[in-house]
Amino acid sequence: MSVIAQNLQAVQMRIARAARAVSREPHEVSLLAVSKTFGAEEVAAAVDAGQTAFGENYLQEALDKMAALRSMLPDTAITWHFIGPIQSNKTRPIAEHFDWVHSVDREKIAQRLSEQRPGHLPPLNVCVQVNVSHEASKSGAAADEAAVIARAVVEMPRLRLRGLMAIPEPTEDVAQQRAAFRQLRELYKLLRAEGLPLDTLSMGMSGDLEAAVAEGATIVRVGTAIFGRRDYSPR
Ligand SMILES: *Cc1c(COP(=O)(O)O)cnc(C)c1O
Repeated sequence: MSVIAQNLQAVQMRIARAARAVSREPHEVSLLAVSKTFGAEEVAAAVDAGQTAFGENYLQEALDKMAALRSMLPDTAITWHFIGPIQSNKTRPIAEHFDWVHSVDREKIAQRLSEQRPGHLPPLNVCVQVNVSHEASKSGAAADEAAVIARAVVEMPRLRLRGLMAIPEPTEDVAQQRAAFRQLRELYKLLRAEGLPLDTLSMGMSGDLEAAVAEGATIVRVGTAIFGRRDYSPR
């Protein structure tokens, strides 16, 4: 078994254990493999091990990888999730090539994605990114703005509102991890109570997925624990 296959199995076991600890079913949590900075070969190894959903942050890198995988694995359906910051001049290729976008944090971006989503594709699945711990990165909308964006997205014809996403400030303190994820879940509950059709809480990464699952994550986004440490030095 490849290292990537072993790592995937270990991550699935972490998810299952974390789910059972809070009386959730492991299948309620799906694993998004974050393949940014890794190549098509690594993605293919993960596909070989049964993984079909992949998350990417950098547009050009993702488009190159998608093209490579289409020729390497022409018969395999891969679901691509865009999870990185979105510049407004890059919305068209995102709308054309991805199945999901987790990082919508402005109404204007949502509007462009809806206008640019090709008619022959199903509506683009969207999560609104919320800044839950006032992280310095500035990605993510404040909770009240996120609610406004979510209400607007529901009305957009080529988008399908799915849920909320957050990347809390990294901390080793599990209580702090859980408090941040709980904020996202509270907003999710509030919006559902309002009647918005949300079914997705995208939260938890390699270092804090247990806390996220305990607080209700339905998608965990895991890179390092599957593919190893990322190397950002120029190649
Ligand atoms: C890189 C990234 C991840 C994966 O983080 P790891 O710590 O490597 O698991 C998850 N979500 C987002 C938005 C990311 O950019």
